Amino acid sequence: MVRDIKEIISQMTLEEKAGMCSGLDHWHTKSVERLGIPSIMVADGPHGLRKQAENPDHLGLNLSVPATCFPSGATLACSWDKNLLQKVGMALGEECQAENVAVILGPAANIKRSPLCGRNFEYFSEDPYLSSEMAENHITGVQSQGVGTSLKHFAINNQEHRRVSVDAVVDERTLREIYLASFEGAVKKSQPWTVMCAYNKVNGAYCSQNEYLLRSILKDEWKHEGFVMSDWGAVDERAEGVKAGLELEMPSSNGVNDKKIVEAVKNGTLSESVLDEAVERLLTIIFKGVDNRKENASYDKESHHKLAREVARECMVLLKNENNILPLKKGSKLAIIGSFAKTPRYQGGGSSHINPTKIDNILEEIQKSVGSSTAVSYTEGFSLTSDDIDENLFAEAKEAAAHADTAVIFAGLPDSYESEGYDRKHMRMPENQIKLIEEVAKVQSNVVVVLSNGSPIEMPWINHVKAVLEGYIAGQAAGGAVADLLFGNANPCGKLAETFPKKLSHNPSYLNFPGEGDTSIYSEGLFVGYRYYDKKEIEPLFPFGHGLSYTSFEYTDITLDKHALLDTENLTVKVTLKNTGKISGKEVIQLYIKDVESSVIRPKKELKAFEKVELQPGEEKTVTLTLGKRAFAYYNTDIKDWYVESGVFEILVGSSSRDIRLKDAVNVKSTTLTKKKYTRNSTLGDLMLHPKGKKAATDLITRMVGDEHNSSESLGTDMTVMFSDFVLRAMVNFTGGEFSEEMMNNLLKELNE
Ligand code: BGC
Repeated sequence: MVRDIKEIISQMTLEEKAGMCSGLDHWHTKSVERLGIPSIMVADGPHGLRKQAENPDHLGLNLSVPATCFPSGATLACSWDKNLLQKVGMALGEECQAENVAVILGPAANIKRSPLCGRNFEYFSEDPYLSSEMAENHITGVQSQGVGTSLKHFAINNQEHRRVSVDAVVDERTLREIYLASFEGAVKKSQPWTVMCAYNKVNGAYCSQNEYLLRSILKDEWKHEGFVMSDWGAVDERAEGVKAGLELEMPSSNGVNDKKIVEAVKNGTLSESVLDEAVERLLTIIFKGVDNRKENASYDKESHHKLAREVARECMVLLKNENNILPLKKGSKLAIIGSFAKTPRYQGGGSSHINPTKIDNILEEIQKSVGSSTAVSYTEGFSLTSDDIDENLFAEAKEAAAHADTAVIFAGLPDSYESEGYDRKHMRMPENQIKLIEEVAKVQSNVVVVLSNGSPIEMPWINHVKAVLEGYIAGQAAGGAVADLLFGNANPCGKLAETFPKKLSHNPSYLNFPGEGDTSIYSEGLFVGYRYYDKKEIEPLFPFGHGLSYTSFEYTDITLDKHALLDTENLTVKVTLKNTGKISGKEVIQLYIKDVESSVIRPKKELKAFEKVELQPGEEKTVTLTLGKRAFAYYNTDIKDWYVESGVFEILVGSSSRDIRLKDAVNVKSTTLTKKKYTRNSTLGDLMLHPKGKKAATDLITRMVGDEHNSSESLGTDMTVMFSDFVLRAMVNFTGGEFSEEMMNNLLKELNE
């Protein structure tokens, strides 16, 4: 329906306009009946719908309507499958339509800075490119159903500890290249109807009133068209927020902040035109929600459960598979051990907590899968409510394991370990589970561990078991998916979207996480995740991008469409992939870029393209990957823009960040002039980069040391290098004024022209 929103706004009173800028209650926007402005409902996300019909809360405490619980963000990202993310998004959109929810709160694209962050299970990755691609496709899927999303939590919300008061102190390059990049592609390519600002401060200013983030970057630079809503209770000074670009405060401020907006307009500290612009953005989305509403919509719970199962098995990661112990052969005797087999851990705690339509019991799914062909025993192994060792449970488990051909242990992190609101203190599993695995491995050499955890754990027992299937927290149909993968009805194809370090102290944020008081300094800078482990040459337990399959793949024939290009041109990379095994499978081709030589600090390699490919046994496919300027660029803080430094870049293609199979190189030439301003404090080395400056600097050095010494042979020292760090002004004194102040100023004028 076509409406003149500006005309509607012109009829609104100041109080009505201020009122639009905060919620009616916990989940709704306000209506203005006399002008036909409706109210819409928003509800959590991200990986299922948490619509509370009554007793609202933002911590996942009270019940919500039944909805499909899909694998959480951390799990979904391990699929590295853009189409799959869209499919999940579409299903979420359908459920929202059925429940009359206009905007589902998610996806969450915060970077995993530390494995300890309590909400890592909701976040996609440690890598901004992967994270932003996942977010983009999630958003596209949901919004294709006429339902909006809220990309959250913008920005730098990487810990739960003091999340509402902490100030994340991050340098500009790191902010741009890591933390904001995770949102940027998603905003630009999929235009989420809304973005949710984070609770915390960034470099001194609360996100809810951070003009740099909300206005300069999100609206002006990235051209976000929708509106920004606050995280629940994130607003500090409301009028400042409106000015900075926060349109909607959630939940309701019960009129308190509406009055502040009115006052600010009346006393001239907030211009009414800025308020009008905020209301225009709000009304545009509110009407969009209403216009896209599908009356009498419904969805098929069974088919969504089936989809959740398919999705879960695309995400789980086979970390280890010694002697191809997996898939398990039917007909052998199995000892299933561990409480998670009956009480699966399939989601995390907090505002994303879903009331599932049904839950698979893993043990039952395994029994269904093997039928009567296989003898399956079950023992509890450990308690889920206490970390204490129970010798009786151990004895039972060992007895069962000793009499079986294979023991499959279901272990991981109990609910209380991972939740919104607090971070983990360590990366260990409960002591009773660690010990159980070690004890069972003493009596049974065929041990398979299936893990349920939302973020990395240490695995001190890794060398005592033959296989590990990382199930993450894979939603309500995780049980069926595990059964499919264990017995080879499906082939594992997930890849880690984050590094599993051997121990917590190896993680780059270890020295500074979660900060001191209300300050968290991101001193590891760009070196988050694999960027750090690569550079420091630290061997991880399992690297970023790692994941095994029951088949094998061969990478051949890397071809580039050119070997020299301008940074304005695209580069096309083709790679041939063949399934060399006996069953069909999927592989994720990963492309990393390495800047061979750079004048700024850069990671050893960075993910810039990927594709998931399905291949039948013996089948071969050529995969095409396209790279644009951003694949080679870093954020140049002098010119405040992305910049490619001319030179050679390696194209690395592989099966994980530590399993590079093919390489080539390309020469990229910059089309941007980075003009450095020369001053009296510029070094002679800086001058050397300019043709005229080079002559002047060489003359000065010669004048000081004499012709005969200005060569490396004479003193065994290269004088040009020796003097390159001296500043220009010093030359006036060193030459006793022969090179005068006036000559220096003339030179500077010439260089800066
Ligand atoms: C969370 C958000 C969530 C909101 C509404 C907040 O506590 O940080 O992610 O969408 O509550 O429940």
